Amino acid sequence: MPTRPTPTARHARTARRGRMAAVAAVAALACAGLVTVNAATASTPATDTSTARAAAPAATSWPTLQAGARGAEVTALQHLLVAGGRSVAVDGEFGPATAQAVKAFQKGEGLAVDGIVGPATWGELVPTLRQGARGPAVKAAQALLKSRGQSVAVDGQFGPGTAAAVKAVQKASGLTADGVVGPRSWSALLSPGSGTPDPGTPSGNRAALAEKILGTGGITLATVHPGGTHAGSTARQNIVDTAAGKGALTSPWSDRPNQRVALDTRMLDGLLKLRSQYGHRVSVSEIVGGDHSSNSRHYAGLSFDVNYIDGRHVGEGAPHRDLMAACRKLGATEVLGPGDAGHSRHVHCGWPR
Ligand SMILES: [Zn+2]
Repeated sequence: MPTRPTPTARHARTARRGRMAAVAAVAALACAGLVTVNAATASTPATDTSTARAAAPAATSWPTLQAGARGAEVTALQHLLVAGGRSVAVDGEFGPATAQAVKAFQKGEGLAVDGIVGPATWGELVPTLRQGARGPAVKAAQALLKSRGQSVAVDGQFGPGTAAAVKAVQKASGLTADGVVGPRSWSALLSPGSGTPDPGTPSGNRAALAEKILGTGGITLATVHPGGTHAGSTARQNIVDTAAGKGALTSPWSDRPNQRVALDTRMLDGLLKLRSQYGHRVSVSEIVGGDHSSNSRHYAGLSFDVNYIDGRHVGEGAPHRDLMAACRKLGATEVLGPGDAGHSRHVHCGWPR
């Protein structure tokens, strides 16, 4: 039983892409996924070094963004800077030009000019939006809605579809679902999880399933990544953490770096049953770790990748069709393998959101 999965072309490629910080994943090549949460890029506490002139409303939390950050929050920031009259490319990368635009914005607003976007700066950046609004600020909200799994077009037109998506996120965040994007809604969009149940909340059932997986012979969990090095986010560590009642950790180079994600119990149960009901020996190469499409179900704790089945590598005689059929019977709705783009070397089983 291999303990060191062979790198797959896709994962190696996407890991490179991740390191080169390309945010816009090409959906067609992606290892699956319809929607995503491209969660808070900042890992630092949301303290703002700016003056507290327009302090953000209480009970909101804001990501701290600075040079080097990337993801949907940065995309939103850039749209908001454009809305504020600054000229900056919207590419999801907080590079020198974005830092410059932030400083110019801070100067214009009388904030401390440090190029770091914390609560005070967010407070000045976010307008209140409602149906009928247009422009780059609407694009900012739409980009965030999209990153939170809502299917909206990022077209800068606040129509009924955008309103419905806003309401859905408001509802999920415990806010009044009025479809109006004010500071609290911006905060909820920018800091997923701040108003929602902690995805890392221990679930006895979830932890028990993970424990069972760890104790099941014939289920091997990778202790390395095909495309990077991070012990905290390997498939094995994801399950160990889940068994300990913690969220599974994403990889620092992924589109959703350093996030704790609750693994879906259907997925965990499905993995167990591939062994117990279908008799397959499987090696899981990634769960929430590694680099996937920004829309990937991996980041939602709904998917795993299998690279060895019954001792053979996928693409080298492993019975991938059997495994794929088993995943479907176990409730997976996104099942990809050899013959599907990017999946010549692994099988992806994803459960619905
Ligand atoms: Zn996958």
